[in-house]
Amino acid sequence: MKVLVINAGSSSLKFTMYRMSGEQMLAKGMIERIGMEKPQLKYERHDGLKINELVAVGNHDDALRLVCEKLVDPNCGVLRSLADVQAIGHRVVHGGEKCHDSVRVTEAIAENIRECFALAPLHNPPNLGAIEACERVFPGVTNVAVFDTAFHSSMPAESYLFAIPYEYYTKLGIRKYGFHGTSHKYVTYATADFLGKPVYSLRLITCHLGNGCSVAAVNSGNVLDTSMGMTPLMGLVMGTRCGDIDPAVVLHLIKQGMTADEVDAMLNKKSGLLGVAGLGTSDMRDIISAVESGHTRAKQALEMFIHRLVFYIGAYHTLLGGADAVVFTGGIGENSAYIRGRIIPRLNAIGCHLDPEKNQVMGKAAIVSTVDSAVQAIVMPTNEELMIARETVRVIKGN
Ligand code: ADP
Repeated sequence: MKVLVINAGSSSLKFTMYRMSGEQMLAKGMIERIGMEKPQLKYERHDGLKINELVAVGNHDDALRLVCEKLVDPNCGVLRSLADVQAIGHRVVHGGEKCHDSVRVTEAIAENIRECFALAPLHNPPNLGAIEACERVFPGVTNVAVFDTAFHSSMPAESYLFAIPYEYYTKLGIRKYGFHGTSHKYVTYATADFLGKPVYSLRLITCHLGNGCSVAAVNSGNVLDTSMGMTPLMGLVMGTRCGDIDPAVVLHLIKQGMTADEVDAMLNKKSGLLGVAGLGTSDMRDIISAVESGHTRAKQALEMFIHRLVFYIGAYHTLLGGADAVVFTGGIGENSAYIRGRIIPRLNAIGCHLDPEKNQVMGKAAIVSTVDSAVQAIVMPTNEELMIARETVRVIKGN
């Protein structure tokens, strides 16, 4: 079966084409700056052929049509015809309370994605837009929605409820949903495979550390708690997001004269590593090099990042009643020996001890703790696109 995976943002469209027997990536890429000046296509075929070109696309329909042209192009394509695409898997950020699992898109599911616009105003509209574009360009082909929130739907009420009057939950759906679920699920199953153990036998603390960061406590493949909340703003210190904060800060700033939109932009786009370090970048590599050259506020930002993550890992270890492993993924988690080298020594109290030599690994699965560690530290590259393709096949096959 050939499956196309689509991840649409407000001005971007990422795609990956898979042949699912052997899980082979045939081609992948993205179109950026859709509807803006100088939209750009990046395309990469499995054999290494790369295309990087400026393109004329004004909307997501144009972008999808261009992707289709490339996929069937005799020079750079990987399909004989578009009829080879048997299913399309879509990343959808918010499934709300109704979508607990990946699902074939029907009118009712599209309506639910629409109902969640208020909960994910930046993501759900382009996600649904891409589904509708695919319905036009691939008539009759099944679209499957794979939700970032779905893996977290196993959380118990004591984890997901906020201690505010109950009717805010029942009437407005105000609760913790959690995000990065596709990544947490992928690394949960990949870690089980890597350790040669069944998922149901494992208690894992999975740390997705990218531009956005989140951590999840996973017991037997079920999420017990996770750090992101009703939106991706809650939890860890991130590239540009503040993570956990006293909600009274928001009220205070609004009473001081800032508008809700200004506070929103400040907390989501100007905070985190960017806001504390004040270097004009949220890139962890820049933060680390500034720390190494003695930059005081970069050091402050980094210490906060580490402190908050260690805090969550300790709490989740206790909630889980112990853990088999702490798993590191995402751009930072997979690649930064430096960050792991700062975090893991802080986990000695839970029996997780760093092996500095093994920790030098970048971007591949490895155990980076000592052999006598009670809790292993594991690096596990994530692959959200492959997870979406697998989920799509699972839905199509009806299990
Ligand atoms: P996204 O959340 O957008 O998918 P990624 O998972 O690609 O992002 O992670 C991006 C982050 O990973 C950036 O902060 C980047 O600096 C960081 N990163 C990538 N490689 C390294 C590295 N070798 N050392 C430290 N940080 C890294």
